[in-house]
Amino acid sequence: MTLRLFNTLTGQLDELVPADGKALRMYACGPTVYDFGHIGNFRTFLEVDVLRRTLKLLGIPVRHVMNITDVDDRIIRNAAAAGISIGDYTAPYVQAFFEDLESLRIERPEQIARATEHIPRMVELVEKLAVAGAAYQAEDGSWYFRLAAFPEYGKLSKKDLSGMEDGARVDVDEYEKDSARDFALWKAAKPGETSWETAIGRGRPGWHIECSAMAMEYLGESFDLHAGGEDLMFPHHENEIAQSESVTHKPLARHWMHVRFLLVDGRKMSKSEGNFYTLRDLLLKGYKASAIRLALISVPYRHQLNFTFDGLIEATNAIERLRIFHQRLTQGSFAAGENPALQEAARKAQAEYMAALENDLNTAEARAPIFDLIRAANTAIDRGELLAGDRDAILTVLASFDAVFDVIEDRDAEPTRRAVEWAEQAGRMAEVAPELLARQGLTDEAIDALVAERTTAKKQRNFARADQLRNELAEKGITIEDSKDGARWKRK
Ligand SMILES: [Zn+2]
Repeated sequence: MTLRLFNTLTGQLDELVPADGKALRMYACGPTVYDFGHIGNFRTFLEVDVLRRTLKLLGIPVRHVMNITDVDDRIIRNAAAAGISIGDYTAPYVQAFFEDLESLRIERPEQIARATEHIPRMVELVEKLAVAGAAYQAEDGSWYFRLAAFPEYGKLSKKDLSGMEDGARVDVDEYEKDSARDFALWKAAKPGETSWETAIGRGRPGWHIECSAMAMEYLGESFDLHAGGEDLMFPHHENEIAQSESVTHKPLARHWMHVRFLLVDGRKMSKSEGNFYTLRDLLLKGYKASAIRLALISVPYRHQLNFTFDGLIEATNAIERLRIFHQRLTQGSFAAGENPALQEAARKAQAEYMAALENDLNTAEARAPIFDLIRAANTAIDRGELLAGDRDAILTVLASFDAVFDVIEDRDAEPTRRAVEWAEQAGRMAEVAPELLARQGLTDEAIDALVAERTTAKKQRNFARADQLRNELAEKGITIEDSKDGARWKRK
């Protein structure tokens, strides 16, 4: 059994197998840690998670490397505005990113590589590019990749680059223009900016060189698969190929996987449209992490997913069905034996499930036979026709479903608890859904009661108790203001 996965480079479904016959070596572009991850980011990380879990289910070990971009234009800009170092600026976002991965049950890659810890490797690569005639230094000391030195430029994105201006340059990390330019490999230090003193001058790496240097550091000059969101195909991945292959003359990755963007309520997600959601936003609204995971992975990665709250509710209900059924099987008692019809149903569901995943990770088609099986098994249990051997066969099917989907075991309390705790610290308790507040004892009524108790304690001159209550409320993000008309409280 092998996975056939769409390869952007060849434009067709290709079999994905480890070139060394052992482990599948893959690199996936990670986050730029200047803010909290939004659900579009997490869709990409989730689809890569579906890929790695499917490979493991097929018995293929995975060596997965992901970078963390912890230095770029935005990080430098935001850290300078906050008057702190880039390390202090990015630290909470790095921590939040790992918490969010955990909430969504996204497996950690075998290797996490932070850009700021690999500067010497990037410098070496720029030096090699200079020797190969593919890099040059500009008047200000910055280094650029010479596009004219790589005639294959554009082979991944298949863009028509005929209007390309020879020698025109671009040095910003973010740009969306469909135009090719010599791009920055190394940016000379500007006053007040974070920089490193190196053999190619004082400065900092461009974004693209980070991924080339770190991918080759951990996976070798040529590896099996490179993945990322579709927005990274051009210019980021095109530039990674140019930088790496100009030095190695080997394909950087044989296989390229790109995850399609999502829409929210049928529109592009944007802060100005008011349809922009981080994972934390959704958790605070009371949606479960497992439902967010299932909603984001149930549409195959190459299809545009239209994310809606109805979709989240559908996912919530589907998980409920799975969990109740699983409980029914594990806690029920069944007579010994096997029912041939159910044995056949389990075998068929397993085969269809695997076939759908092997066909370009078709998660939508993979789900269907599992729910058909649940329906058939529930009917059989109601009629007393499900036997112990059937239970075992069906539990095996559910286990392989959960090896990829990972939603059956209820681990939803922890992500929600963590999100509410974060909201308390971040002063965002006003965004927390009432039912979550109720679970944490933080409804308006509960707070009114504590404030009233404090007022009584003060009247009775029991100041120790009054202070204790004030502190307890402060821990929950509630501040009290005493006035002539009594105590008033507000959420931070
Ligand atoms: Zn990258």
